[in-house]
Amino acid sequence: MVDFGFGIVPSSRINLDLFDRAKFEALATLEPDVRKCMACGSCTAVCTAGTFKATSLRAAIEEIQNGREKKALEMISGCQLCGKCFMTCPRGINTRHLILSIVKIYGEEK
Ligand code: SF4
Ligand code: SF4
Repeated sequence: MVDFGFGIVPSSRINLDLFDRAKFEALATLEPDVRKCMACGSCTAVCTAGTFKATSLRAAIEEIQNGREKKALEMISGCQLCGKCFMTCPRGINTRHLILSIVKIYGEEK
């Protein structure tokens, strides 16, 4: 096969059967701010841990919304709770608290 230097991107279809609505509602009850995220990526741009390991709160929230909980936990597993993302979030989300709540709710079945 000819190598064109690019390929087809993986499907971004959302499989709602994988999306645990009950868990997301539990997270949203604990952290209503999770609904405020507009996926701007400011948190990821300043992330201290991102220098050493793929870490992105923006991606973690997106993965949760797509039903990929394990991937979401991976995306915040390097977090050092430094709080830089909290200072930069334009929506004023208490990101550290949100990260801890995500681990609390989605990390229980690890
Ligand atoms: S609190 Fe965690 S996710 Fe936020 S900037 Fe610091 S290391 Fe990154
Ligand atoms: S900075 Fe705030 S609004 Fe932007 S992606 Fe991160 S959590 Fe969401």
